Formats: sequence, structure tokens, C-alpha cells
Amino acid sequence: MSDSKTALVISAHAADFVWRCGGAIALHQKLGYEVTVACLSYGERGESARLWKEGKTLDEVKTIRRKEAENAAAALDVHDIQFLDLGDYPLDLGSEAQDRVVDIIRAVQPRFMLSHSQYDPYNTDHMRTTEFVLTCRMIAQAWGHKPGEDVLGAPQLYLFEPHQTEQMGWKPDTFLDITAVWDKKRAAIECMEGQHHLWDFYTNVAENRANHFRRNSGGQAGGRAAKYAEGFQSVFPRTVDEL
Ligand SMILES: [Zn+2]
Repeated sequence: MSDSKTALVISAHAADFVWRCGGAIALHQKLGYEVTVACLSYGERGESARLWKEGKTLDEVKTIRRKEAENAAAALDVHDIQFLDLGDYPLDLGSEAQDRVVDIIRAVQPRFMLSHSQYDPYNTDHMRTTEFVLTCRMIAQAWGHKPGEDVLGAPQLYLFEPHQTEQMGWKPDTFLDITAVWDKKRAAIECMEGQHHLWDFYTNVAENRANHFRRNSGGQAGGRAAKYAEGFQSVFPRTVDEL
């Protein structure tokens, strides 16, 4: 593993990273990580209803959504944001997309990765993204893929909180206190002009997760209070030196 602290977020659509792990991004930037966000699409067809109702064209919708995501990324101090423009509803996750994402993973060499829940019947782009990310992670680890390049180690993949949480089979095992960077996350949320209805919803989610943090913080977090938190489900076992 290289000495630099890096993390990689793979977001199906342009806004997902903001609601679901904006706090984790801003916090890790503050901790000295370089966090890269890869947006597989702009969410132009499926997550931009207001712009379509206003009569915008496809290119206009994509341009606006890109700008919103760039503004949100700036609010979160994101190190680098990349847009793959794979289309949405559905995403085109063919072999070309796979090669591009494997290249990104190997270039970033993340210490940990973040993506969607493994099940999402409301939005199959989300759950297909997670399966796709696991495949790309596997390829990036393979010594026989583009021999001579630096292979990937074994970064954890954290699944961030989906919408309609209880329907997704998503079970958090990690709560992260994001109180110190909440102002940045709220500022990023407010960059999403087309989704006003979600601003207070995700503020409420963060407050509720802080409640879970407080309820469970007697050990590792030393009983510390938290006002805002994010929940994650880890895919792989965590290896530790101390329990
Ligand atoms: Zn999405």
C-alpha cells in the first residue's frame, strides 16, 4: 500500500454521493485523505424530474446535473471528481465501462471504497453498480490484468445508506460521526437544486444515525456525543489490532 491516504467513491448517479456519504468524504479530506468521486452517470433521465418538467433537453439536463455535482464536490473538498457519462436508467456497464473503472481504481489505490447497497428493487442502477464495483475491484487485484501495473490491495467496500432503507436489506455495522463537517454536507446537499424534497429528509437521516452513534459509542468512540452521523455496511471482515 502506498503511503498516501486515498479513498474512492463510486456513485451511480451524480447526486448519490452527496446524500449518502458526503459527510464521510468531507471528514476524510479533513483527516488528510485524498477522496476521489467517480460518477458513472449524471442521473440525467431518472433523477432529474424537475428539469424535464421545465422542458430542458438531454444535453441541458446533463450540463446542469454535472455543474451541481461539481459544486457539491467543491463544498465537500473532494480531491477529484470524474464523470463517466455511461447513461442512466439503465446504466451501460459493459466491458468498456469496466476497463475504465478498473483503471480508476488502480490509479487511485484507495484505502477504502464506498458504493451503494447490494439490493435496491426501486433503482436497479444502484444495485448493479455495487455488483459492478465488486467485479472491478476483483479485476484490479488480479496480477494477470495488465501485468506490470500496480495491483490493488484489499480495500474495504463500505455500502452507504440507500433510500427506503428498510426495503434494501441494508444493515449498518459502522456509524461515522460527521458532526465536525456537517456544515459542508448541508452546503453540498443545497447544491442539488432539483431535489429540494430530499434536503430535510437527509438532514433527518443524519440526526437519526447520530442517535445510533450515541447509543453505541461507549466503546471505540469513548461515549462521545454526535449530532450528525452516517451509517455504512462493510462487505468484508475488518482486520484490527484492538477490539
Ligand atoms: Zn441514484
